[in-house]
Amino acid sequence: MPALEAIEGALEARGYRVTPARRAVLQAILSRPEHFTAEEVMRRARAGRATVFRTVRLLCELGLLCRVLLEDGRLHYRLLGPRRHHHHLVCVECGRVQDLEECAVGGLVRELASATGYEIQGHWLEFYGRCLSCREPDQGGVR
Ligand SMILES: [Zn+2]
Ligand SMILES: [Zn+2]
Ligand SMILES: [Zn+2]
Repeated sequence: MPALEAIEGALEARGYRVTPARRAVLQAILSRPEHFTAEEVMRRARAGRATVFRTVRLLCELGLLCRVLLEDGRLHYRLLGPRRHHHHLVCVECGRVQDLEECAVGGLVRELASATGYEIQGHWLEFYGRCLSCREPDQGGVR
């Protein structure tokens, strides 16, 4: 998990100034062990919606955060080291989110682009289900 200095360094390398408000948002994000919503960060950092959303979007673009669309439509974020575009396995029982290593639908995207003439700019794909420990509660696995 990246440290505050590493994230600030990544932002500054791209020409973004780390303002006190933005630093408060980063600290709030770093204090979250698992995933979080933008609203939680707003409460924790006492920062405005625009600052939080801009910072979150920037961290997503830098590959430091990934966004996860939960089954109920809520959007969660997770902090990671630099990571390429990828997808998630989401357990609908315990809420565990697993990062998949890479995108498995690159071929489909290319096919779609050539079939429709679209210049495809992005896609989301999450898989929902029950993780191993939720499927087999008697056979152990930590919850
Ligand atoms: Zn589970
Ligand atoms: Zn992820
Ligand atoms: Zn993908």
